[in-house]
Amino acid sequence: MNEHVSQPRRPIRQLDAAAQNRIAAGEVVERPASAVKELVENALDAGARHVRVTLADGGRTLIRVEDDGAGIPAEELPLALARHATSKIDGDDLVNIRTLGFRGEALPSIGAVARLEIVSRPPGVAEAAMITVEDGAPGPVRPAARAPGTTVTIRDLFCTTPARLAFLRSPRAEGQATAEMLRRIALAAPGTGIALYDATGADGPPRKLFDLPPERGPESARRAARADRIIRGGFAENAVAVEAARDGLQITGLAGLPSVARGAPVHQYLVVNGRPVRDRLLLSALRAGYGDLLARDRHPAVLLALECPPDCVDVNVHPAKAEVRFKDPAAARALVVTALRSALAGAGHLIGHTLSETALSTMTANGGGPSGQQPSIVTSNAAPMGPLPGSRGWGRPGGEWRPPSRTPSHTPSHHSARPAPGLAEAAAAFMAPHDTGQAEQFEDAAPDAALDLPLGAARAQIHGTYILAEAADGLVIVDQHAAHERLVLERLKRARAAHGVARQTLLVPEIVDLGDGAAQVVDAADLLAELGLEVEPFGPGAVCVRAVPAILGQASPAALLRDAADGLLETGTTEQLEARLDAVLSRIACHGSVRAGRRLSLPEMDALLREMEATPGAQRCNHGRPTSVRLGRTQIERLFERR
Ligand code: ADP
Ligand code: MG
Repeated sequence: MNEHVSQPRRPIRQLDAAAQNRIAAGEVVERPASAVKELVENALDAGARHVRVTLADGGRTLIRVEDDGAGIPAEELPLALARHATSKIDGDDLVNIRTLGFRGEALPSIGAVARLEIVSRPPGVAEAAMITVEDGAPGPVRPAARAPGTTVTIRDLFCTTPARLAFLRSPRAEGQATAEMLRRIALAAPGTGIALYDATGADGPPRKLFDLPPERGPESARRAARADRIIRGGFAENAVAVEAARDGLQITGLAGLPSVARGAPVHQYLVVNGRPVRDRLLLSALRAGYGDLLARDRHPAVLLALECPPDCVDVNVHPAKAEVRFKDPAAARALVVTALRSALAGAGHLIGHTLSETALSTMTANGGGPSGQQPSIVTSNAAPMGPLPGSRGWGRPGGEWRPPSRTPSHTPSHHSARPAPGLAEAAAAFMAPHDTGQAEQFEDAAPDAALDLPLGAARAQIHGTYILAEAADGLVIVDQHAAHERLVLERLKRARAAHGVARQTLLVPEIVDLGDGAAQVVDAADLLAELGLEVEPFGPGAVCVRAVPAILGQASPAALLRDAADGLLETGTTEQLEARLDAVLSRIACHGSVRAGRRLSLPEMDALLREMEATPGAQRCNHGRPTSVRLGRTQIERLFERR
């Protein structure tokens, strides 16, 4: 019998205010970062020019938000703590919302799950007043001392809800989540100074984590200045301005060039009417706007602010107000897509070479090499496969993409080839151009016997990016970067399966500043070591790289580590080990691959084609794009109307 049916029915009861607030808190206050978000939004709604946030133990023991805004009159303090009490809307009009808050839920919710204290003084009022909440019950209003503005202090978050407390992550992780959330708010409100302090530990004054001054000037200038402070690595100078308007909808912001895209969507800041959002519609429009300027697993850095009349967007669809609903979603999407496209097209050097429609329609994705075949590494003497330490083979990895003329010359002496003990032999065998029999076979075969091979004989390289090859039955075009990336990944996988990834100890260990990502990298040190990346913590926000995967030769350890960190970020800590290894491996491969823009000699190109033929899965790059296309002979003939 069903257990529930046999239970005696209980009568319907009205829950008391404390219980209601605890339930509401479940949605509104998920973790310290969401509590901070509510308090900072209140400060912004109060017109604050400066907001200072202080945390201790990642917000678990203390969250304090101080502002210099309009304050709360003493007589209204009890009301501020009442559920559904707000000064921001009158309840009749849920359409024209111009403030960040409007639900009147944050303070009562927080009061239900923590110890809360509010001290406030409106400007022009002689004395401040305060109120506290303990165990969900507000105390009396008392006089206090404070300059004009408001201080809200939360202690022992979730002390009344142990279940929620148990779900909190480490103080470090919670602190990072709060910092990230503050950055989003800071980008949405560049005219307000926002600072974050850490007061963990009893001794000494709170430690400053960041202090963003209020930016001046017109809105777009303020936003650009703020973005440059927040998104590191010269975001603004590697971005194009976005500006468009249509049907009352207006978009402004900055779109990062594809060359500064990241391995994870870590720098995508979207703002709707001053409200930071993570909206699915907008994120997908963002992807569409970049189109094929970006590989599927690269994520553009963007800061886009949409403004529209408040009645064009419903902000009351998400308890934490992280999502919005547009009255006309198609128009919003279209605006974002076209604004991005035209901004990126304006940066002329980005636009790829386009074939005519006719030519494109006759192009077919190339089947490439055999798919079921055993993997084998094919080499030729003329073109050593893979970046041998000190060699000048085609596989020499670059750092971040740069125009060829600006590629920095790596100094080979920077690295010493010292694979981890025990792996030396395996590594040597792997790295050396091996199996001369095969090499000779291909020397005999080249060039014209290669015509009968699936990818044909290399004839030329165009745009520093594509290999043109002549096959018996047509013309093959290979994307050298996409192809090499795939080959490097397959090699790394095989190497790891066979004998672990050989590592190359750096002569001079390199210190890499990773900011918030450092903790994650240090936590994953064992996993990274398995992939040949040896790292150690090096003070706050930095790690020390001692060794890199040997196969990557002279890759820049800093750029490599950033990519690996992005891979970790993408998969999260709970993911299966294999999935995380794969994600990192794939990043590393991408990183170590020959970039578009590198000149290749004919033997180098042929070697690449032969290795592609011998590698299962080489027809697709790591992001699923084709690595080669084929224009059949008859198709060519049709193009010239010979048929
Ligand atoms: P909401 O922001 O949705 O109105 P809250 O519970 O966050 O609800 O806040 C309740 C009310 O308290 C606000 O409407 C506002 O009048 C007042 N208030 C809260 N924080 C501040 C602050 N930092 N400065 C001035 N007034 C505040
Ligand atoms: Mg609020």
